Amino acid sequence: MSVAIVGGGLGALRTAESLVAAGYAGEVTVISDENHLPYNRPPLSKEALKEGVSAEKLEFRRRAATDGVAWMLGDGVRSASFADRILTLDSGRELAFDGLAIATGIRPRRLNVPGPISGRHTLRTIDDAKMLREAMTVAKSVLIIGAGFIGCEVAATARQLGLSVTVVAIDQAPMVRPLGFQLANELQRRHESKGVKFHLGVGINAFLGEESAKGIQLSDGTEHYADVIVEAIGSIPNVDWLEGNGLDLSDGVIVDSSMAVVGITFPAVAVGDIAKYPHELFDEIPRRIEHWNLPTETGRRAGKTLAAWLAGDKPMAEIVNFIPTFWSDQYEYNIQSFGMPGLADTQRLSYGSLNGPCVVEYFRGDTLVGVVGIDSVPQLVPYRNLLMKRE
Ligand SMILES: Cc1cc2nc3c(=O)[nH]c(=O)nc-3n(C[C@H](O)[C@H](O)[C@H](O)COP(=O)(O)OP(=O)(O)OC[C@H]3O[C@@H](n4cnc5c(N)ncnc54)[C@H](O)[C@@H]3O)c2cc1C
Repeated sequence: MSVAIVGGGLGALRTAESLVAAGYAGEVTVISDENHLPYNRPPLSKEALKEGVSAEKLEFRRRAATDGVAWMLGDGVRSASFADRILTLDSGRELAFDGLAIATGIRPRRLNVPGPISGRHTLRTIDDAKMLREAMTVAKSVLIIGAGFIGCEVAATARQLGLSVTVVAIDQAPMVRPLGFQLANELQRRHESKGVKFHLGVGINAFLGEESAKGIQLSDGTEHYADVIVEAIGSIPNVDWLEGNGLDLSDGVIVDSSMAVVGITFPAVAVGDIAKYPHELFDEIPRRIEHWNLPTETGRRAGKTLAAWLAGDKPMAEIVNFIPTFWSDQYEYNIQSFGMPGLADTQRLSYGSLNGPCVVEYFRGDTLVGVVGIDSVPQLVPYRNLLMKRE
């Protein structure tokens, strides 16, 4: 019996741990296109970018349960044949499997406008972070395209390194989708008070430069130049290798509440950023959510499902009752959230003041769907249970 786990991030690690803990005793092979054992990504835009990137420091501790796992690193999966249950790797090597875990995460989306591709940084991997840090340490200015999580965190880190920072985005305010305008406008104020310049509500016409991008032209016709350019405009699920097997891959991989892939009849699960499922505490709409706690939650569940399925039992169908949780560190501020504030139509300040430590509650109709706090962890803690009680 053999299980192939494709992808070598947190979701893959947690799936392997849970599979073994659930009593599966066959072979487990993790296949990753990266050359590193699973490591923690959040520091890549924060302290690791500021202080120096080291794979050893960022690697997750691997539990003894995974001692028997075979790690095939630096060789991605190019394609899969579900009919034959065979994976083909970039090297041409083939690997047969009985059970499959899909844990290939996402990659940065790129802007499709004229101009050179060289000289444009993205940030997803440790190698990306090393290159970006190298470039930033000899630079005076950085231009960040995108004002989401990664854009805002890189902006804060770059200011802390003393660079002049410009952020350009099509959105009207930084992190407005998860935070709503009230808190997003306040976040913009905090960034501006640290010296960040914003150009918001504008598109990009082109990258400027001969062989390498040196600047951008905005849709309002203005041109902006910087030593370093970072594209942080969202992500694309890594589903290419699954094509040709009849799955709906339009936005990740659809799974049921046991993390079993919808549309596959042999034991197969998907986890982490790539998995799309309804969070039944909120509604029935399947969504992908790119928060750090979810590879752990989905991986734990997926490992159990796979072990049961391979042993001939029907996978469990519990409801999805884990609470999406994110945090973001920008300057000295810690932003933390529970639930899905992005679903809200109204919001209410429930603690503190917007320009200091605060908690904002988010409602859809009369129902609490999420909460965000700045520097208010003790005040936030009870909300986790409150949101769980929706079950
Ligand atoms: C810079 C950064 C900062 C972040 N900060 C925060 C934060 O502050 N708070 C928060 O909640 N979340 C944060 N996140 C998000 C969090 O890190 C992710 O949700 C989490 O890493 C997802 O884990 P995963 O295992 O699903 O995917 P990943 O960690 O992306 O792992 C997927 C792996 O699969 C590999 N792969 C892809 N395609 C193939 C293939 N065909 N064959 C083999 N391998 C393949 C990839 O290279 C990668 O190694 C951050 C992410 C980044 C990048």
